[in-house]
Amino acid sequence: MKKKIETILASIGIKKQDSHGAVVDPIYLSTNYKFAKLGDHPEFDYSRSGNPTRRLLEDALAALEDGKGAVVTNTGMSSVMLLGALVPLGGNVVLPHDCYGGTFRLFKNLEKRGLLKAHYLDQSAEDFPSKVQTIKPNLIWIETPSNPLLRVVDIEAVTKLAKQVNALTVCDNTFLSPALQNPIELGADFVMHSTTKYINGHTDVVGGAVISKTKEHHEKLYEMANDFGITGSPFDSYQTIRGLRTLTLRMQQHNTSALFIAEELSKHPKVLKVNYPGLASHPSHELAKKQQKGFGGMLSFEIDLEPSKMNDFLARLEIFTLAESLGGFESLICHPSSMTHAPLTPEEKIEAGIHENLLRISVGLEDKDDLLNDLLSALN
Ligand SMILES: *Cc1c(COP(=O)(O)O)cnc(C)c1O
Repeated sequence: MKKKIETILASIGIKKQDSHGAVVDPIYLSTNYKFAKLGDHPEFDYSRSGNPTRRLLEDALAALEDGKGAVVTNTGMSSVMLLGALVPLGGNVVLPHDCYGGTFRLFKNLEKRGLLKAHYLDQSAEDFPSKVQTIKPNLIWIETPSNPLLRVVDIEAVTKLAKQVNALTVCDNTFLSPALQNPIELGADFVMHSTTKYINGHTDVVGGAVISKTKEHHEKLYEMANDFGITGSPFDSYQTIRGLRTLTLRMQQHNTSALFIAEELSKHPKVLKVNYPGLASHPSHELAKKQQKGFGGMLSFEIDLEPSKMNDFLARLEIFTLAESLGGFESLICHPSSMTHAPLTPEEKIEAGIHENLLRISVGLEDKDDLLNDLLSALN
């Protein structure tokens, strides 16, 4: 029976065989496992290669993303690196020009070392297909909605284009989680997550995951993750499962509060622009409605304020914390230009549309009126 997402989440590790009949699967911290006799191949032998607690999380993520398997790694970036390692020496990678800062920097550095060529492109631009035909990339990286401008890329269109040039496609699904978007259903070969964000949702674990559409790709990545020694720890996996159980409930609240705040901020005279795919005025509102099951908890906005006054505004906030990262139960605000996107050169920032008056918020689970009032009183 194909189960609904809520059922998958509430049943992770429930009613597994355990000598004490524990309802919740225990955490397996043991680094190694017993061989019954010579020639025996136990399911797990050493925790870097395989661990029952990590496996539980991997199986849950594979089921949620409709993949054939998942590899859980120790950070989101090690999952990005794992996928980068699929690119042959001298190969070409196409990435969004406004992708996650860490991904941007990693592929730039891989290029500097002569390992591959990274092309940062606007994937919604009219000339994108012709550029891809010319580059003939080995890998196309998709990240939608993008960070911090919440631009939406048509996953189905990009994966179709990729197939024409024999490129593999990855979709970084961190911003929406499997509760709101399923890239494999839309044609992607891999889904990548920083589980640090919505998957764990409790701001206490850094982790990553790659889910593969095919068994062959999954087995290859599984072996590579073991070779690199980047697999996630049992403790982190256990915490992440605990957070994951309430994913759909959390995402519903993130959606509701973010839409409310985006709508209200749009009406404010000191707010010049609000970027949120849930607004009818957003350029990719229709596309977001089609490929997403919700608009998510992330939004950004430009305010009419001298850059020198930005710190005063931020200091007046009582609920929002000035911090990087996102996707937790707590509301955060960040200044992309000087924080998450600091690695970009001034030209790259202009190209990506990251201005000095842009603020990004991760809308948490606090009361939505309290959140709005916090922003409004700081603005006024
Ligand atoms: C945070 C993040 C990453 C990197 O993950 P870490 O867990 O910080 O290593 C990659 N992509 C996106 C979209 C992110 O938000």
